[in-house]
Amino acid sequence: MRAHDQAPKLHRTGTHLKKSSNAKWCKKASFPRDLPNISLIFIFVNEALSVILRSVHSAVNHTPAHLLKEIILVDDYSDDEQLKGPLEDYVNKRYPGMVKIVRNQKREGLIRARIEGWKAASGEVTGFFDAHVEFTPSWAEPVLTRIKEDHKRIILPSIDNIKHESFELERYENSGHGYNWELWCMYINPPKQWWDDGDTSAPIRTPAMIGCSFVVNRDYFGHLGLLDSGMDVYGGENIELGIKVWLCGGSMEVLPCSRVAHIARMKKPYHSNIASSTRRNALRVAEVWMDHFKSHVYLAWNIPMENHGIDYGDISQRVALRKSLHCKNFEWYLDNVYPEMRRYNNTLFYGEIRSSKATHLCMDQGEKVNHTATLHPCHGMGPQLGRYTKEGQFFLGALGSTGEETRCLMDDQVSNFPQLLNCDKVSNTRLTTWHFSQNESIVNRATGRCLEVIQANVYFGHSLVLQTCSGQRWSIKNTMKQ
Ligand code: UDP
Ligand code: MN
Repeated sequence: MRAHDQAPKLHRTGTHLKKSSNAKWCKKASFPRDLPNISLIFIFVNEALSVILRSVHSAVNHTPAHLLKEIILVDDYSDDEQLKGPLEDYVNKRYPGMVKIVRNQKREGLIRARIEGWKAASGEVTGFFDAHVEFTPSWAEPVLTRIKEDHKRIILPSIDNIKHESFELERYENSGHGYNWELWCMYINPPKQWWDDGDTSAPIRTPAMIGCSFVVNRDYFGHLGLLDSGMDVYGGENIELGIKVWLCGGSMEVLPCSRVAHIARMKKPYHSNIASSTRRNALRVAEVWMDHFKSHVYLAWNIPMENHGIDYGDISQRVALRKSLHCKNFEWYLDNVYPEMRRYNNTLFYGEIRSSKATHLCMDQGEKVNHTATLHPCHGMGPQLGRYTKEGQFFLGALGSTGEETRCLMDDQVSNFPQLLNCDKVSNTRLTTWHFSQNESIVNRATGRCLEVIQANVYFGHSLVLQTCSGQRWSIKNTMKQ
């Protein structure tokens, strides 16, 4: 889900989620009959007709009739003929008067598709879903109760998985929704307070949303400026909404007692390179909302902060929105809503690290088990994302969010190869620090040995070694501007 095609593992970092069971608590809950009604909005591109219909049937079957205002299907310019007449005929016959179909005249992307659905909605509350989800009984009542109590809450039903090969339901652990600095979303452990309170049916505070399922008061969503319509295709809007609602006076939470299951597809029936639009969208979020922490997004994507050549479009209206809503600053959000998020304020230089001796090769994480940095033809992706800090440490690897720090370089005084490990665990920290500035040598502060490149029969004809300094120089692609 929301899986980055190249790196789906990023989205499942919540592997250390503790076990929790909330079934018995949820059954006890009772809800007022008088709740706000809801419009359910599904967006799709070339989704299988049968899958859309499963979503619609389960919505009708499991949402109390007096609360279901309507169902809106937004066709984001599909070309599958089944989704034209046949879809329309079926739903009109089966659910007369219940289903509105909105057709985009060109491919707008999921962000603007959701906005089109919202425009067509007339319910007091709007629920947004991928068109391959299934609802469980009583999914709606707890959600609408929380919104009735406070219309500034954005509510995320808990997501379970429908296995795409068998349609088998797989229950996921209770979790919040977080993200890394590239703004790819992922499940995260619920806050410590939630565990300490011991009520696994209680709402889970969440810094952002995965995005395949969220419910919000219709007018309040409009007041918040909906999603950022300047974003294209996919990704980033889910993080923007989380940041925005928290900074501008509302909140976002996952409800363990409301469960919606989602099919995580292997292959998307649109656009093969979503990363380029997600990156562009992420820069919009960074520039509008993140104040000086925007540097972290540039760092994570390995983009220079100036002259990067990426056209992220006009953000003036979003900046004006932030001002008009009198929103707090991003540091408040990190301190109070996403304290687990790792900060990288100590970065001086970032990007690929190259030696003057072999400029086509870059320092690379190599195999984790070898605990040593290596050389590899430059590509600038995760394993080659280097970082030199104010403290004088070198890190290599994609930025995490809440997990372990990326590994760092050490001279262990014995080996001729630089070690790559978790430097927090090294007692003699001087062994992990280095003298360096752009186009200078890399010199270990404890041993005085230099990191250099020699000719060898490994790593593309070269090897990375620690030796007596011979004057080799290094550069790191980007310089941080705070
Ligand atoms: N979508 C859309 N227009 C697009 C791309 C995606 O309407 O250009 C819809 C898609 O049909 C789906 C939702 O956006 O209902 C989310 O996409 P997807 O399910 O592929 O993302 P995932 O759940 O894997 O993150
Ligand atoms: Mn989906």
